[in-house]
Amino acid sequence: MNNPLLDKFEAPFETAPFNQIKTEHFLPAIQKSIELAKDEIKAIKAAPLPTFENTIEALDRAGEKLGVIAGIFFNLNSAETNEEIQKLAREISPLLTEHSNDILLDKALFERVEQVHSQKEQLDLSPEQETLLSKTYKSFVRNGANLNEEDSQKLRKIDQELAQLSLKFGEHVLAETNRYVRFVENESEVAGLPESIKEAAAQTAEEKGKVGQWAFTLDYPSYVPALTYLKNRELRKELFIAYNTKSSKGDDLDNKSVIKDILQLRYERAKLLGYQSHAHFVLEERMAKTPKEVLEFLENLLEKAKPKAEEDVSEVAAFAKKLDGIERLERWDFAYYSEMLKKEKYELDDELLRPYFQLEKVIDGVFQTAGKLYGIQFTQNKDIPVYHSDVTAYEVKGRDGKHLAVFYADFFPRAGKRNGAWMTSYKGQYQLGGKDHRPHVSIVCNFTKPTKTKPSLLIFNEVTTLFHEFGHALHGMLAKSNYSSLSGTSVYWDFVELPSQIFENWCYEKECLDLFAVHFETGEKIPQELIDRIKKAANFQQGYQTVRQISFGLLDMAYHHQDPSKIEDIASFEKHVMEKTDLLPKVPNTLMSTAFSHIFQGGYSAGYYSYKWAEVLDADAFELFLEKGVFDPETAESFAKNILSAGGTEHPSKLYQRFRGREPKPDALLKRAGLI
Ligand SMILES: [Zn+2]
Repeated sequence: MNNPLLDKFEAPFETAPFNQIKTEHFLPAIQKSIELAKDEIKAIKAAPLPTFENTIEALDRAGEKLGVIAGIFFNLNSAETNEEIQKLAREISPLLTEHSNDILLDKALFERVEQVHSQKEQLDLSPEQETLLSKTYKSFVRNGANLNEEDSQKLRKIDQELAQLSLKFGEHVLAETNRYVRFVENESEVAGLPESIKEAAAQTAEEKGKVGQWAFTLDYPSYVPALTYLKNRELRKELFIAYNTKSSKGDDLDNKSVIKDILQLRYERAKLLGYQSHAHFVLEERMAKTPKEVLEFLENLLEKAKPKAEEDVSEVAAFAKKLDGIERLERWDFAYYSEMLKKEKYELDDELLRPYFQLEKVIDGVFQTAGKLYGIQFTQNKDIPVYHSDVTAYEVKGRDGKHLAVFYADFFPRAGKRNGAWMTSYKGQYQLGGKDHRPHVSIVCNFTKPTKTKPSLLIFNEVTTLFHEFGHALHGMLAKSNYSSLSGTSVYWDFVELPSQIFENWCYEKECLDLFAVHFETGEKIPQELIDRIKKAANFQQGYQTVRQISFGLLDMAYHHQDPSKIEDIASFEKHVMEKTDLLPKVPNTLMSTAFSHIFQGGYSAGYYSYKWAEVLDADAFELFLEKGVFDPETAESFAKNILSAGGTEHPSKLYQRFRGREPKPDALLKRAGLI
């Protein structure tokens, strides 16, 4: 069968031939390219004496075709999927896991890597090559390559058990979420809900067979607005308690023992590999380096943010008392009165801002901002194939006028696209044989669609989302590494949000907004007074929010940086850890750990602190722009050179210091958030 995925890509810039690819092409192409990758590994092993070039560098180059094809497949599975593709994903995923395990568990291959690694002092490597060597070596070692046969078996068993347990954790939470529904018969009980939310609640009820009623579930899009807008205090309380007792009721969906097992196995795994704890293991590959550094970071922020957080809570409590005579502000009251307080203080809502943010103009504004900062230019290129008619492809040129990247933008929701917004790539960047292979980068969003009478008008949150994802895209497009595994966004987890979050800062600057924020009907520029209100509203309850994020980060670290056998009871452990961050009265028998999916199901264990860490970095880095001018060419050039183009070629602390001239400090974040 002729398979366009396996042929050389003939479209402009060797872009993916979306116009020729059919679903049935994927499986054979993946199988074939796994074989090719295996041959490449074989060749590495067959080479004479191991050297940096024939082993470490060759490993970075191996499996390129597989990477491109798998990239196309999984990107489509996120952005334009269907049942057939989803079914195929379940077939392809294990093939890829098996292939990567085959490499990482290959003893003979590891021996070669180890030999090169042991000579690293004598090899006269560049900093980038040193990074590649150590990253390659570590990827084997952290997967157990240094263990004896018995321990190696133990590790495999732990990994299998952990995979099962995190699935179980997630299934329990999901089942708890799905089995709860609260119907409301009387319309007066849903007072306060905005019309669209009310409609959604009615639709949920209808889907569950109760026409003419309203229904609330524990899904985010139902639960969050309910707690924010429902006037009915008893109903808010009931929903709050249902939400915060998930998987903690001692029945077959309880996660307390699952958590204990997960913690114990993660600890054993870390010990087996020679680390003091799971957090020590995780943080070895993070900018923050050690649990001590993370804990100090969180404690320090907490100390600064807590007074403001307490003020935030008092302000809401006073407001609730004045408005409704509430004597004791409870956890189920906080979002409700905060929302009203916010409206009263800033008189700002989404609809007021929308007319200034027409999508086409915002995109143009993003391009212009990138142009002013980094000299890059975007031109739509209709010859580049796309996977859906909503997708636009651009050719990107650098300051020197040379080809820099291909950029795809896919903005509107549709049935086959998952929620949220993300940046991804179809082809990485690397240099080989004197040729710079440029990347193909994409951003995928779910923005407000145009209607028959109106263009797509974004809410401000969508504008910052677009800038955020575009910041990631710049990290990809400006990449200038030799090796694909160190290129672009291939950086430590607590560093990867710096380019994205810093780019959001421009949305609050008049100089930038003037480029694109004009009223779609009158052409009037967004007034300064409105920008000021946007800034102020963005800082609303920053103290409270900061302490909340810190409390999750501290709980995560408490679970992972010490011997978990000391934890006797999950509920009392959580209560103890959260005590110093509690701002509202504790509600008996509620628990967050048993549904803390980020750290027990997803990959955020010993990593929750990253959210705040990245904020410190972006505020601190942007402060230099504020000092020198938001479009200051020198600062922009330094940011491009030291951060955006450098990818993961060196340790992020080094890269950051090169840009900032010193280590990051939290002061800029505290100042921006109004905490000092
Ligand atoms: Zn991001």
